[in-house]
Amino acid sequence: MLKPWECKVFGTACTPEMPIGTCMVSSEGACAAYYNFGRFSRQRVREVSIEASRA
Ligand code: SF4
Repeated sequence: MLKPWECKVFGTACTPEMPIGTCMVSSEGACAAYYNFGRFSRQRVREVSIEASRA
């Protein structure tokens, strides 16, 4: 099981405004909750995305 921030598109291609998966659609979805309530900083999302693109 992955945490929301471990998804390669979390906070980049997949956001509550433009969801890709169902977890980002509902405000009660795990990914939307992490995104909306700031448990994961936007800066860290960018860092993880860069790391994933290099892998
Ligand atoms: S809802 Fe979006 S961020 Fe969450 S696992 Fe699915 S594609 Fe990834």
